[in-house]
Amino acid sequence: MLDPVPDYLNCPECGTSVSAAAIGSHACDDRHRREHHDRTATAQVAELEADIRSFLESPHGRFELFYAQRTRRRAS
Ligand SMILES: [Zn+2]
Repeated sequence: MLDPVPDYLNCPECGTSVSAAAIGSHACDDRHRREHHDRTATAQVAELEADIRSFLESPHGRFELFYAQRTRRRAS
C-alpha cells in the first residue's frame, strides 16, 4: 500500500506549514526564515553538545581528555 500524501508540508527554508498544492508557489517570509534558522541552529548546537559529552564519557574520549590534561601540565 502506498504512503498517503500529506495535505500540508513544512517549507524546508522557513518551516511554515504550506498546503502540498501550494508548495511550488510559496514565498518565504523573512521573519519566519530567520526564526526557523535560529531554531534549527539551536537544535544543532544542542545535538553537537550532546555528541561531545557522549564522546568525552566514552573510553576513547576519557583517554583524549586525560592525554590533553597531561600534555597541558607538561607544557606549563
Ligand atoms: Zn518558506
